[in-house]
Amino acid sequence: MDYDTYGSNAVELAIDLANVDRADPAWVRTFLDAHHEWWTEGTATELTDPEDEAVGQTSSLVREVALAESQPEVMTRLNALLDLASPKPYATDHDGELHLHYARPDAGAVEQLTTTVAMGLSQVVVQHGWQRLGVCSAEGCGNVYVDTSRNASRRYCSNTCSSRSTVAAYRARQRS
Ligand SMILES: [Zn+2]
Ligand SMILES: [Zn+2]
Repeated sequence: MDYDTYGSNAVELAIDLANVDRADPAWVRTFLDAHHEWWTEGTATELTDPEDEAVGQTSSLVREVALAESQPEVMTRLNALLDLASPKPYATDHDGELHLHYARPDAGAVEQLTTTVAMGLSQVVVQHGWQRLGVCSAEGCGNVYVDTSRNASRRYCSNTCSSRSTVAAYRARQRS
């Protein structure tokens, strides 16, 4: 899996959005500011309530795609997400390297975010298979992940969850 491309990075943005903690009322702004490198300079990150809701809907849809358990289910959910996207390929070298963006540079934050994550997620699913998306096996985690390992063997969202589970399994063996 070529992991250095914009599309692969965009799927990481999608996964971050699916796993975001929505308890804080200001979570959308916090998320947008934490991922500022994705938005055209000057893009407003303070959104209206309906815009915040739209970002929440995108987050839920990405999560649902990752949780789907069959190809038809993935396609239905992915197409619902793509329905919200407004792709407009745009060549840029803002970071010093020529590459394509999926969204218009003058689009608002919601359109830039939704389009980027919908396209990034779709690229990975159609190129590498929907089985590349999964939910963390660590007890009580529930985060989703994209598996970019060569042999598609990933089971945890992070190294933290992986080592936490290894330790728990070891302790369980010690007790028995
Ligand atoms: Zn870029
Ligand atoms: Zn986890």
